[in-house]
Amino acid sequence: MTTEERLAERIGMIRRELAEASEGRYPAPKLIAVTKTHPPEMILPLKVAGITDIGENRVQELRGKLPQLEGAFRIHLIGRLQRNKVRQIIGDVCMIQSMDSVPLAEEIHARASAAGIRMPVLVEVSPAGEAQKGGVPFDETEAFLRQIAPLEGIRVEGLMAVMPLTADEALLDSLFAKMRQLFDRLRETDITGIRMNELSMGMSGDYRIAAKHGATMVRVGSAIFGPRN
Ligand SMILES: *Cc1c(COP(=O)(O)O)cnc(C)c1O
Repeated sequence: MTTEERLAERIGMIRRELAEASEGRYPAPKLIAVTKTHPPEMILPLKVAGITDIGENRVQELRGKLPQLEGAFRIHLIGRLQRNKVRQIIGDVCMIQSMDSVPLAEEIHARASAAGIRMPVLVEVSPAGEAQKGGVPFDETEAFLRQIAPLEGIRVEGLMAVMPLTADEALLDSLFAKMRQLFDRLRETDITGIRMNELSMGMSGDYRIAAKHGATMVRVGSAIFGPRN
């Protein structure tokens, strides 16, 4: 099997599983291929398999790959972002999914405004209270949204979450359900300037559970490319 065929086969399998897991409850989530650590020659074949959106988590790495990837995919920044790096990616990504502090929101607002754009972002929420991993504490999400709502250089499109690394499916099930409830509640709250269209959650180990609980995007790397080493 060629690399292209192998990637296409895995992507086809993941799409079927996503459709199955969400069936009858939610639309199947969009599959975002997480391409960190992989070179452009491994990433470009994803296009043939119908991948339109990719996720990268480091600014430096993304900058290095941009010349070959630009225009081929919509690029989401999904990793922790330092304020002093915002300037380097503001015009090159379609969405910043890992926004989790007011200073970062203000920096994105300032850089986007200077570039004459409104940057789509997701607010990263910490569902399990793992402070060291980043993310707004779960119970502070609404207050955080109200605080950043006036910033015109950003357009909040929804929420993102990274689940704890665990094989405990019951725990994951409850955390994904909790995220979906928060998302639904905030959508009904209707805060001016804040949209709740996207709920980005689920990775290689748990995308089926995420789809079952109504993720609108899953971010999948190793299930497509094989384990990172
Ligand atoms: C690496 C990464 C992923 C994908 O992880 P896999 O387990 O390889 O699917 C998803 N989201 C974020 C934020 C990541 O850093």
